[in-house]
Amino acid sequence: MYVVATPIGNLGDISLRALETLRGVDLVACEDTRHARHLLDHHGIKIPTLALHQHNENEAADKLVRLLGEGKAVALISDAGTPGVSDPGARTVAAVRAAGFRVVPLPGPNAAIAALSAAGLADPHFLFVGFLPAKVGARRTAIQALGGVDAALVFYEAPHRVMETVAELVELLEPQRDIVIARELTKLFEQIVRMPLADAPAWLAADANHQRGEFVLVVSGPPPREGMDAETERVLISLLAELPVKQAAKLAAEITGRPKNALYARALELKGG
Ligand code: SAM
Repeated sequence: MYVVATPIGNLGDISLRALETLRGVDLVACEDTRHARHLLDHHGIKIPTLALHQHNENEAADKLVRLLGEGKAVALISDAGTPGVSDPGARTVAAVRAAGFRVVPLPGPNAAIAALSAAGLADPHFLFVGFLPAKVGARRTAIQALGGVDAALVFYEAPHRVMETVAELVELLEPQRDIVIARELTKLFEQIVRMPLADAPAWLAADANHQRGEFVLVVSGPPPREGMDAETERVLISLLAELPVKQAAKLAAEITGRPKNALYARALELKGG
């Protein structure tokens, strides 16, 4: 079974290998058959489709396993981007693998990675959060928990909730963080803007168009904490055991992404101790 990433807007964003594969399989399993047909017709691909969405994924996966058993080749796509990423696919992949068939990924478009690639954040790590819970209480708890994560945060959000979510991010995350709002990626009205988190509600409110379309929100990592986190300290101590202070601090900065000056100061303290 081929797991094929498809465009997130611009129909040209499909790989040669994806087109070749979609032309060569016996069946394409897809979330919405009309949506898939639009993509397949655009590329002149005539092939049967099978609906596989979150409400029928188990039965559809059983059917795919049967077809694979009959020697058929199948492709799995979602409405947009990479199957299994905030989209159905994971249960099907697990069932197909459990039945002993090979699963072949065909990498391609993904909204989170597209947004990150144009965000220009210096953070060495990111956490893909995807959609936050819809219920206010659960959403606030989730954001609070994310405050402790030492990474840029990548959210998917629907247009009708973007104002609310951004207001909560401002309220619950550190004010020093930046946000990159990436809307309508690869489409006609694509817009990617970066600003201090606190400015985002006013930017969204300034123009009704700013709240339209599909959104990825990327929040830069938290400001450096006072003192070192345990992992950084562990790296620094290991390097100090083998290297002079300056070199250990430099390497620790490269490995952890922490500021070199802070590591140098801490290395001096540790040596002194
Ligand atoms: N599987 C997809 C992927 O690989 O990115 C994600 C599917 S998820 C159901 C849909 C969400 O992804 C949207 O609500 C939005 O947050 C984000 N998204 C998808 N396409 C987008 C685009 N063109 N621009 C911005 N965000 C997009």
